[in-house]
Amino acid sequence: MSLQGKTVIVTGAGKGIGRSTVDLLISRGATVAALTRSADDVRELKELGCRAIQVDLSDAKATREAARASLPADLLVNCAGTTELQPFLETTVEAFDHLYAVNTRAPMIVAQEYARFIIDTGRKGAIVNVSSVASFVGIPDHAAYCASKSGLDGLTRVMAKELAPHGIRTNGIHPTVTLTPMAVKAWSDPEKAAGMLGRIPVGRFADPIDIAEIILFLLSDEAAMVNGISMPVDGGYMVA
Ligand code: NDP
Repeated sequence: MSLQGKTVIVTGAGKGIGRSTVDLLISRGATVAALTRSADDVRELKELGCRAIQVDLSDAKATREAARASLPADLLVNCAGTTELQPFLETTVEAFDHLYAVNTRAPMIVAQEYARFIIDTGRKGAIVNVSSVASFVGIPDHAAYCASKSGLDGLTRVMAKELAPHGIRTNGIHPTVTLTPMAVKAWSDPEKAAGMLGRIPVGRFADPIDIAEIILFLLSDEAAMVNGISMPVDGGYMVA
């Protein structure tokens, strides 16, 4: 599986799954255009050799400008995401709008700019949208998150149909709990962790590298006939 010489846009590149994806891409000979928010992460990504652009993806105009600034590119990973835990009855409009802006609208905007570039320059490309098992399953306290990821899945399916005739494949991946620093904190309660672990047949949570490997596969030419799928990367959680 070679991504040698390819330029890949990665959103949410600063931490967690996005950062692991950046490291793996660089180790396989790709160049990364990184979109992320924290200044420290931007600095670190530049030191790694990335073209790093600081942006708040909840701002639609800034997102479009950053997406344009990240071009030219061959491939796109929409990885940035955020969450806020609120019971359904207490879910605020502000939190709902914010999660939709970051998790659903920003991937659409970045993908629009990327796809226009690929089409205009007569290239071929691939997009991976990082969704979640939360788009398939109702998880208490995650109403806005589940809705925003299901919305992203809808985009993935339409993009797969509309963009493939132009040579761009689009797929979604759906990780289970993945041990990024944030998730380690959220799942450090042994009782809560045991309940979730009991539903994952392989008996462990995912590591960021487990997810990054699948992202790279879906980007690669080896996945040339894979388009429009929603692929769980969940150790069997969805069949449990
Ligand atoms: P992290 O919190 O570890 O990293 C998220 C990255 O996205 C950070 O670099 C963060 O930047 C960036 N980001 C968040 N909000 C914004 C914003 N408004 N503007 C720009 N950048 C932003 O998350 P994970 O690595 O855990 O998650 C990555 C993706 O995987 C997300 O889409 C998430 O929903 C999904 N996922 C994660 C799972 C898990 O258990 N970890 C499970 C299933 C899906 P900064 O820190 O600077 O804000």
